[in-house]
Amino acid sequence: MTANEILRLAADIGYLAGSICFIIGLRRLSSPKTAVGGNLVGALGMLLALLSAIADTALQADLSGAAPAEVRTYILWLGGAILLGSLSGILLARFVDFKAMPQLVGLFNGFGGLASVLVAGAMILILAGSTTQESPVSAIATAVTALIGSITFWGSLVAAGKLQGVVTEKPVRYRGEQIVKGLMALAALAASAAYIAPELAGNVFPQSTAFILVVVTGSVLGLLLTLPIGGADMPIVIALLNSYSGIAAAATGFVLDPPNKILIIAGALVGASGIILTRLMCHAMNRSLANVLFGGVGAIVQQEGAGDIYAGRVKSTGAEEIAELLRIAQRVVIVPGYGMAVGRAATPVRQLFEAMEAAGTVVEFGIHPVAGRMPGHMNVLLAEESIPYDRLKEMDEINGSFPNTDIVVVIGANDVVNPQARSAQGSPISGMPILDVDAARTVIVVKRSLAPGFAGISNPLFVADNCLMFFADAKQGMEAVLKAYKEG
Ligand code: NDP
Repeated sequence: MTANEILRLAADIGYLAGSICFIIGLRRLSSPKTAVGGNLVGALGMLLALLSAIADTALQADLSGAAPAEVRTYILWLGGAILLGSLSGILLARFVDFKAMPQLVGLFNGFGGLASVLVAGAMILILAGSTTQESPVSAIATAVTALIGSITFWGSLVAAGKLQGVVTEKPVRYRGEQIVKGLMALAALAASAAYIAPELAGNVFPQSTAFILVVVTGSVLGLLLTLPIGGADMPIVIALLNSYSGIAAAATGFVLDPPNKILIIAGALVGASGIILTRLMCHAMNRSLANVLFGGVGAIVQQEGAGDIYAGRVKSTGAEEIAELLRIAQRVVIVPGYGMAVGRAATPVRQLFEAMEAAGTVVEFGIHPVAGRMPGHMNVLLAEESIPYDRLKEMDEINGSFPNTDIVVVIGANDVVNPQARSAQGSPISGMPILDVDAARTVIVVKRSLAPGFAGISNPLFVADNCLMFFADAKQGMEAVLKAYKEG
């Protein structure tokens, strides 16, 4: 076997093994029990892909007649880029606050899109310096990469900016908005056609002006599509942009000559999983994707005069009474929501859970798929506290058990337990599946006031006969309940 044949074999085996790692990693990410291992398998896949890319680069350079010194320079550049990327990844993982993860994921998607555009642009520069003609598949893939990659980059920057509070959280709406977006989409398609058509007609020189036009129109489109969406809907937008970044990466795989198989496979996996996550989130919020993208919902709503709606019908309670009730309960379900996350109350919640379990009470957690502000938000917070996975019950699993539950403690959750969702229409959350906590014997809601949640609507649960309100910050309130429980 020649040295080049060995390199080819090593690169192909590495690409194949890397692709298999991505598939296994993704599969394992579907359960909290296997997710950490899944992440490591995925990272191993990426390492294999990078090593294979180095072997591939050396091979391609050698085949194109490059001198050994030139091949070494290519590898040094590649190695430097890998080192820089790895260092940035390690620093970001160590120092970015957990609560900022959605915007970090948004930025990763954006850089994925930008990388795809840069690779397509580099291929144009390479082709411009040679007499090789771009294949029809590669020409179409270049236009797709430029368009979707630039939409993803600018869209992700806006999404991350909105979540970080550096871009307005409010939907930026204006008269004729849909027409402007439609016209820009047409302009982007026209620029793409202007790039592809001459290539298909056999033009040897790639259309760099048309390519730049695709990138510019795609960039403006990315801004126009994301700015009108409210800050609170950004997690869905980020899931969608994640899918776009995958599509751009898969298209980049076809831009390269020869096509890069692992880029195509990894891109397809990211594209498909992103769109599945987007669908699941929309379903759990009972919203259509069109409503998220074009509805202008998702602004942080402040409802005035909530006190009047509930006037005089709310029964409030305190830490002592709650502790008393918890001590005589046999089965308790804790329902966490956004307020538990922002209130940083997971630790006292875990301590109360442990104290109740030690006293022989059956305690479970009811997890709504869109509780909090990002997918898996509650699972991650509770897993960080090392609460056993088998105590975390998904909505469908736990809903049937509420009639046999003595006490439900709702901590900083609102929309996900709002019975308004059961009305067929007339409410922003009509039809959204909820946790049926009102079926329990007693419901205790821990929140600071009667203020609404994300959907901005009142909650009839707060005035239900079996509901007691504990007006407190989630952390301070749960610490007070824990103290009273232990002292009793
Ligand atoms: P909600 O947003 O409905 O309600 C949260 C409640 O927490 C508020 O009513 C607030 O009341 C209370 N709260 C805030 N801070 C504190 C605190 N420090 N201590 C105690 N309570 C506090 O949250 P849910 O989790 O019930 O529902 C999530 C909502 O977000 C759903 O509408 C969902 O569709 C939406 N969403 C979810 C996404 C996801 O991926 N999970 C993505 C995008 C949107 P008060 O101010 O009175 O304390």
